[in-house]
Amino acid sequence: MIKYFIYCRKSSEDEERQVLSIEAQLAELREFAKQNGLFIVREYTESKTAKEPGREIFNQMLSEIEKGNAEGILAWNPDRLARNSVDGGRVIYLVDTEKIRSLKFPTFWFEATPQGKFMLSVAFGQAKYYTDNLRENILRGIRQKIRRGELSAKAPLGYFNEPRLRTIEPDKKTFNKVKEILRAFATGNYTLTQIQDKMFSLGLVGSRSGKKMPLSSVEHILKNPFYYGHFLYRGELHQGSHKPMIAKKLFDQIQQALKDNGKPRKKRKEKKEFMFLNFARCGECGYCVTADRKIKKSGKEYVYYFCTKKSKIQKCSQHRFLREEVLVEQVKEQCQKVSLPDVWRERYFDKLKIWENENRQTSDLFAQNLKKEISAIKAKLERLTDAYLAEALELAEFQQTKNALMAEKKTKEEKLSDFERKGNHWLELTRNWIIETNQAKNLALQDNFSEMKNYLKKIGSNRRLAAGRLEINFKKPFNFLAKLPAEARGKAPSKATNSIWWT
Ligand SMILES: [Zn+2]
Repeated sequence: MIKYFIYCRKSSEDEERQVLSIEAQLAELREFAKQNGLFIVREYTESKTAKEPGREIFNQMLSEIEKGNAEGILAWNPDRLARNSVDGGRVIYLVDTEKIRSLKFPTFWFEATPQGKFMLSVAFGQAKYYTDNLRENILRGIRQKIRRGELSAKAPLGYFNEPRLRTIEPDKKTFNKVKEILRAFATGNYTLTQIQDKMFSLGLVGSRSGKKMPLSSVEHILKNPFYYGHFLYRGELHQGSHKPMIAKKLFDQIQQALKDNGKPRKKRKEKKEFMFLNFARCGECGYCVTADRKIKKSGKEYVYYFCTKKSKIQKCSQHRFLREEVLVEQVKEQCQKVSLPDVWRERYFDKLKIWENENRQTSDLFAQNLKKEISAIKAKLERLTDAYLAEALELAEFQQTKNALMAEKKTKEEKLSDFERKGNHWLELTRNWIIETNQAKNLALQDNFSEMKNYLKKIGSNRRLAAGRLEINFKKPFNFLAKLPAEARGKAPSKATNSIWWT
């Protein structure tokens, strides 16, 4: 087996500025060696010009070869070995005397024939030879840098630049905080200024000022694809090598929330001290129900909910002030109405297991299809890059198409990994439904009103108050529970209720 030395060189000369860095050469050569099964015994690196003879490390390497410690050299290009006739001549002489039995270059094909040696000497002699490979070198250089994540330059908030490895790593102090912010914004319940305040309260501040982060920076963070694993470089999306913070799905929700944020919205007078504010509307006129507190002569304080009567078209006749204690009881009652008894939970879990088995087969097919679609996009991306490199496409057109394809690929990949993790989505939903509705019972038992409120908000629409009664339209499949007669709840599910549920 031929033993190889790797030799990498780059000088600070102007004309070598475009040449791959030593690190990049090393990375490419190691990969080349791996692909071609080359046995590497040592790596030499040198930062000197090859125009003049007399490079120390290069000379060391050649004397090791003369001693027979290796019979081959792997370098990026002949111009890395020599750019003058003396050094070039030495290499060729070692080939002639069979001290060197193999020379390998990823960018140049060499064979120890008279013709090959002639080509090599031409390569060594041509000072400007490297310009022919300039384009290739630049492209590879960029690729290498992107691989290292170097081109994204400054790590965004939540990450830091690891100086030694030149990678971008999660920053323990801020990673989870930024994640919290992103998740919060994705709910759509925050405006930019509110999220700015939340960031400030978490200690995420402007790097120089130490004050609130400027809104433009906040927006930039919310729009940065870096957080889901890509990064933008010169208008082009690239696959990053860093650990993503969020899923692309969440990123998409954030973008939607940003869009919705731009739309004018009604001013909310949010008084947080009233628990059920913004919970229900008036059942008659449809306007907001508001709250106020009154202190009785006894000194006891009561909270009341009542219609704001803002409608000018329809005169609302609701005069009733509903006391919070009364409302709270009704909330509890509603919550119990849509909770699943324990006996039912076990039955439903059994049925779910049967469904899961039935579904496994169809799922495989679904995953296969997704995989096919993903590889089709990958193929498209490759063809696109080829077309761009062959100058058949304008840069703008290339970038636009590429970004769209990258985003589409990510969505599909996420769908696939979601799917592989969760199995079939609706089965998961059903499982969650069983657990959630079963737990709703406990919320009511624990008097956990803020959770009850959230639960009812989530599963019920058109929450309204009229004549002192709370009414809710429950969404499917929660409405099924709400319709159950009270006496059915204590017993095991009957055939009749089952058939409603199964369908
Ligand atoms: Zn009203």
